Amino acid sequence: MRAAPRYAEVAVQLPVDGTYCYEVPERLVERDLRGARVLVPFGNRGVAGVVVGVSDELPEGVHEPRAIDALLADEAPIPAELLALCLWVAAYYEAPPGEALRVALPVGSQVSARLIVELTPEGEAALGGGGALAPRWRDVLGLLAQAEGGLPRSELLRGDRAGRKLRPRDLSAVVEAGLARYRRELERARVQARSERTAVLVDPVDDDDRARLAQARARLSRAPKQLAALEALERAGGAAAVAALRTEEPRVATHLRALAQAGLVRFESRRAAPGVAQAGVEGMRAPVAPPTLTGSQEAALSAIREGLGAAEFGAYLLYGITGSGKTEVYLHAIADVLSAGKCAVVLVPEISLTPQLAARFRARFGDLVAVLHSGLTDRERYDEWQRLRAGDARIALGARSAVFAPVSDLGMVVVDEEHDSSFKQEEGVRYNARDVALVRAQRAGAVCVLGSATPSLETYYAAESGRYRLLSLPERPTPRPLPKVALIDLRVYRPEADAMLTAPLAEAIRETLDRGEQVILFLNRRGFDTFVLCRACGEAFRCEQCSVSLTYHRARDILLCHYCGYQRRIPKTCPTCGRAGSILRRGLGTEKVAAAVGERFPGAHVGRLDRDVATGARIGEVLGRMARGEIDILVGTQMVTKGHDFPGVTLVGVLCADTGLSLPDFRASERTFQLLTQVAGRAGRGERPGRVLIQSYRTEAVAVSAAAHHDYEGFYRAERVSRQELGYPPFGHLAAIRFDGPDARVVERAARRLAERVAPASLQLGVSVLGPAEAPLARLKGRARWHMWLRASTRRPLRRVLEEILRGGPEVLAQVPAEVRIGVDVDPISAL
Ligand code: ADP
Ligand code: ZN
Repeated sequence: MRAAPRYAEVAVQLPVDGTYCYEVPERLVERDLRGARVLVPFGNRGVAGVVVGVSDELPEGVHEPRAIDALLADEAPIPAELLALCLWVAAYYEAPPGEALRVALPVGSQVSARLIVELTPEGEAALGGGGALAPRWRDVLGLLAQAEGGLPRSELLRGDRAGRKLRPRDLSAVVEAGLARYRRELERARVQARSERTAVLVDPVDDDDRARLAQARARLSRAPKQLAALEALERAGGAAAVAALRTEEPRVATHLRALAQAGLVRFESRRAAPGVAQAGVEGMRAPVAPPTLTGSQEAALSAIREGLGAAEFGAYLLYGITGSGKTEVYLHAIADVLSAGKCAVVLVPEISLTPQLAARFRARFGDLVAVLHSGLTDRERYDEWQRLRAGDARIALGARSAVFAPVSDLGMVVVDEEHDSSFKQEEGVRYNARDVALVRAQRAGAVCVLGSATPSLETYYAAESGRYRLLSLPERPTPRPLPKVALIDLRVYRPEADAMLTAPLAEAIRETLDRGEQVILFLNRRGFDTFVLCRACGEAFRCEQCSVSLTYHRARDILLCHYCGYQRRIPKTCPTCGRAGSILRRGLGTEKVAAAVGERFPGAHVGRLDRDVATGARIGEVLGRMARGEIDILVGTQMVTKGHDFPGVTLVGVLCADTGLSLPDFRASERTFQLLTQVAGRAGRGERPGRVLIQSYRTEAVAVSAAAHHDYEGFYRAERVSRQELGYPPFGHLAAIRFDGPDARVVERAARRLAERVAPASLQLGVSVLGPAEAPLARLKGRARWHMWLRASTRRPLRRVLEEILRGGPEVLAQVPAEVRIGVDVDPISAL
């Protein structure tokens, strides 16, 4: 009997259900394979996978399992806790386990198999025996004998250091003669290290040297700029990337060169340090010394501390107005987590948009922070993963996928701006990082803190009903009150066609510019794609069954409900106010607005921030220019609403608040309220008070009026009622089935057939089926899209219907031709 497990359960990286059993080959039985990446045969090819379990016994129903081909040996396995979390994610979101695990892996899943050539015992004997061996063969065997564990075939053929090249023919011959053999091995895709020019302080080698350096330094009193550069280097701990120093002093390279000539500094090429240096945001400095907490910050912190002390799961909603000091509370709590010897995970919506936050974490915790942002190269990302895995970094700060950071001994998970929809992954494994964070904390016995100025309905409801503990920060810690908000009724003040500016907003911009202060103009562009409403009364045409706005389809000239498929023509007169010819249809974009604003205010520097102009480094560039006051008016989409802290901004203008309200989505009102509140929070963060002007056709809409009054609770109470009436979350559960394929008619037919097929079961289980209907984004990347929504008051029946669809066998799948893809979205966020 042998003790080592002989079988492994492998989640393969293919979109297939379940896991597969493989035999563990003799040479691997001694290793702990759990969490390791392996190469396994699947059908007639090799695929990568992760070992999720091992056992001594062959599972029931499995006969003659195939053997694992190879192991990715040079990588730490996925920690057991994370492995289990990924399997939970796969089960909950109805995703293939291999795909769920891929999200948790360091650098995607880029592994490949390579051929290794190794000596056989016969080969060794032949080499040692001194018998007749062709010189070419001797070369091959000699090289292999030097390399322990064999050599990659590609390397052998490239030749050795002496430049001797091997011919493929000789290699084959040696293998055929049984003197060497091939073995397959898994290899991680090569990730390139990036190096950067680093300035390093010269350390004295002896006392004489010390005196020399002191003299050289004393001479710097006549060169203040060089002295400043030297001091910056000292503050940075003796070494810093030249590029990073340049953010403080543009001409620093010149000063450093002079210092190098004086023998005080030398240059090295070092691997690029991950983190904020690459965020490229200049002119943003973070305070290092923690401020004294306010009373409500203290109260929140001590509640969280209690939870940390109890070392068991607890969920908290930190509900604090914009700028109320939530981040400061996280930072204090994290310091506690660290001193208890534990780790923290901090999730933020889009880290590239909030480089200031990363800077604050770095300033407080230095290298203990691993910042995972989209600007990292694969190599850097991999290095950060390893740092966390090894415990060298103990705080993972990043967007969505950081919820899978490989930290052990988790003490706390923070989800900042928990309401943000970017926590939901919209392709592949459609997980919501906020919800996964709660589950991870629960399984690890850790504390989970959700923070927001505008909590999602789901989260606030959970706090209200006592599942999460509610902690409030009702005021800003500094004498900066929330800005005054005024509504401008677009039915009264007609906007100019191009820039959407009314007279009062234009005047406010003029005044702000005259004072040398900055302006943010926010355009909720999503809503402008199809913009239909009554200019006279603001009516936006809703579907009575679904309580979502109808969407205008130019091609067919109709209004359509994207949940249930209801359609109608655009009436000539408005059904609400009876006015004729008042229905407005048009599109408007940031580009057009920015140009028009530039013409209207010549001399003002107008900047733009939206997905089209700004990606990666460009975002940092625009934010940096804004921070340094080089932009007077920043025009942008949702991106300008995020947690920016620009003290110079004293005016925020919202061009048309209610366009987002007409999106075909039951969350449209909530999202509009959140955006308006968040963008309003950008004004008046510096010395001078700010103000906010919101232009709207429907000033009476709850989302708009509550935002104008900083009234979250008022909004929550109103929205809660309508959610309850319609059975939407948090009063019901949803799943969306998404269909897509090249041919719209085929997709439609498949969707309708499948809907019919599950109708009886749904009816029996009390699950409402909405649709199928064409998706609002009816075509995406050349594929036609339809969807169908399932709604139920509890999760279980919903899951039963999903199981029926996904695992109903050939009978159900026969309804769907191969060219149509079906995707299941559990707890969907996007209705588009
Ligand atoms: P939030 O995360 O709620 O937006 P922050 O933590 O970013 O708020 O705080 C907003 C501003 O107030 C920051 O500039 C921060 O440094 C400052 N701040 C936070 N707490 C205090 C405090 N107790 N005393 C003084 N300033 C504070
Ligand atoms: Zn409808």
